[in-house]
Amino acid sequence: MKNLHNVCIWKDTEECNDCFIKGKLICHFHRKYLFSFIGLFIIFVITAFIGVIMAGFGWFLLGWVGFWFIFFEFWEIRILCSHCPYYAEEGKTLHCIANYGSLKLWKYHPEPMKTSEKIQLMIGFIILVGYPLIFLILGGQFIFLIISIIEIFIFFSFLIIKRCGNCLNFSCPFNHVKKEVVDSFLKKNPVIRKAWEETGYKIKE
Ligand code: SF4
Ligand code: SF4
Repeated sequence: MKNLHNVCIWKDTEECNDCFIKGKLICHFHRKYLFSFIGLFIIFVITAFIGVIMAGFGWFLLGWVGFWFIFFEFWEIRILCSHCPYYAEEGKTLHCIANYGSLKLWKYHPEPMKTSEKIQLMIGFIILVGYPLIFLILGGQFIFLIISIIEIFIFFSFLIIKRCGNCLNFSCPFNHVKKEVVDSFLKKNPVIRKAWEETGYKIKE
């Protein structure tokens, strides 16, 4: 029952030994991926918290924290994570390299993200990082504003350069895994392959 969708990342790792993809994708959880993701985000959060409090808008941070809860537990996890092979594991919580521990309230969606979901994701990210910046501007905390913007830039640059070229969620708008690797992964995973082909995706044989 642990692997209802028969996704290879949740099978015995012995199967990986002769896999063309081995080393090309982040197929399995490791703490180092999670800690680097959380660490870079927390640095931005700490800067933004200090700046917004100094700006005199500290109470508004509750709205930001509330948005994290909505975004990571209900919204982002539906539009992005429910399409990810990490989400295919049976169980109530997510064990992945970024949103580790989030509740899985939605069913797994092996098909690629829709355009409307990609647009929602971009809107969600803009709110996520933009919320405290508004209060830094209103409070005249321009040093904290500049540092926060640099930290956001570093966070997303790190993700795009170091993670999105190896990430299993191929339909994410930031993902840039090569097509030959995507196709190899789909060939190994018939449930995901079928869902992708039903949306018109063509695998190069
Ligand atoms: S694609 Fe699947 S079989 Fe290949 S290395 Fe990753 S988890 Fe293992
Ligand atoms: S898309 Fe990213 S955050 Fe979501 S389950 Fe996959 S690896 Fe985790």
